[in-house]
Amino acid sequence: MGLKLYNTLARATEPFEPIVPGTVGMYCCGPTVYNYAHIGNLRTYVFEDLLRRSLEALGYQVRHVMNVTDVGHLTDDADEGEDKMVKSAREMKRSVWDIAAYFTEAFFNDTRKLNIVSPTIVCRATDHIPQMIALIERLQQRGYTYEAGGNVYFDISKFDSYGQLALLDRQELKAGARIEVDQNKRNPHDFVLWFTRGKFEHQSMTWDSPWGRGYPGWHLECSAMSLHYLGEQFDIHCGGVDHIPVHHTNEIAQTEAATGKKWVNYWIHAEFLLMDTGKMSKSRGGFVTLSTLEEEGWEPLDYRYFCLGGHYRTQLQFSFESLDAARNARRNLLDRISGLVAALNGAALPEADWDGSYARAFLQHISDDLNVARGLAELWGVIKDSELEPHDQLAQIAAIDQVLGLKLLQQELPQNMVDPEVQQLIEERSQARAERDFARADRIRDQLAQQGIILEDSPQGTKWKKVRPRV
Ligand code: AMP
Ligand code: ZN
Repeated sequence: MGLKLYNTLARATEPFEPIVPGTVGMYCCGPTVYNYAHIGNLRTYVFEDLLRRSLEALGYQVRHVMNVTDVGHLTDDADEGEDKMVKSAREMKRSVWDIAAYFTEAFFNDTRKLNIVSPTIVCRATDHIPQMIALIERLQQRGYTYEAGGNVYFDISKFDSYGQLALLDRQELKAGARIEVDQNKRNPHDFVLWFTRGKFEHQSMTWDSPWGRGYPGWHLECSAMSLHYLGEQFDIHCGGVDHIPVHHTNEIAQTEAATGKKWVNYWIHAEFLLMDTGKMSKSRGGFVTLSTLEEEGWEPLDYRYFCLGGHYRTQLQFSFESLDAARNARRNLLDRISGLVAALNGAALPEADWDGSYARAFLQHISDDLNVARGLAELWGVIKDSELEPHDQLAQIAAIDQVLGLKLLQQELPQNMVDPEVQQLIEERSQARAERDFARADRIRDQLAQQGIILEDSPQGTKWKKVRPRV
């Protein structure tokens, strides 16, 4: 099945052809860990997860690399302002290293709750300083850099196709239309590869380098790490649309200047989540996190469903009313699927089946630049098709859910669906505990766990829930 994706570089939807047949190298710009991710950031990561799952469903083996920016990202993408990590550490009265560790953990908690598959490789900027220094040296040898005011800059006038991704106008670039603060820059669009301490005080994350003790520019991090893990040419690079004009533009310039060849074939960008107040932004504060939604009673997968409801290239307006609508739709879906599971009368859930007509049609829509809206219609189609056996319906639902990641078949089941044999074991375990025969109680707990029965002991007695094992 031919996959088509919208490539920002071509401003067109193109057939996807990987460099090495059957495999995909994919780099996604990760979080800057100076605060919690807001739900806007998470929309982008849900989109990237959808893309990865779709590629896998289409049979590709995906090497998915994501960075964690724990140094060098200034409050303004174009080198102005202060390091976001340093600012946050000062405000929270913690070290930058503590801040990075804490918010990295918080980020992965959120992505786990959203059922986002972990990247194949997660790489922290601070673990790759030697690769960054080597990249600057390479650029220096090829004549693309200059030093000024203690910093090393990339000279965009030396790179002919600078700004192609963002369709930046050459004349405008030369005229320097933007208001410029950094007097060291020869051109306002030049950017810093290496900062030394001279520019920012209070920077505690610094490393020795040929240009003095300092720290790398943010754009450099992604180039150095993707070169390291994916090589000099790879297939897909993702991020939010805000990265097109500065971050990705600069990544391309420095990487292609260093290697002398085209770097990434497909640039795929997710549109923004909008709040009533406009764009949601981490640095402006007042943002909504996944925890905020949970505290208000929504489940993380309600938010995932909400994100899947809009095409990734369309801005998505967030409101609590629309999140409510997503929750109702998801519950409705789960109720209908529970009914199908009940109709199996205790038989095992089927394996995922991509050969059914609905699952095939679903994959066809997904192959068309990730058209989830039409894909969801196929999901409803198979659920409502009373001509099919529940077993066949569930097999196709299991396949479709490999892409949607909504845990449609891993729901908790009503307690009355547990068979008498299991009930008997639960009672036997309670008896063993009462007799302080803990070894026997543990054996029964393990036996039950294998059948998807999870026990929780509390002072009020043993509660249990049944979960469907992953299909
Ligand atoms: P950051 O942690 O600020 O580097 O952003 C992480 C990711 O979230 C990047 O890919 C951004 O492009 C993306 N992003 C930032 N704000 C939004 C938003 N409001 N909606 C969707 N994606 C966003
Ligand atoms: Zn990046």
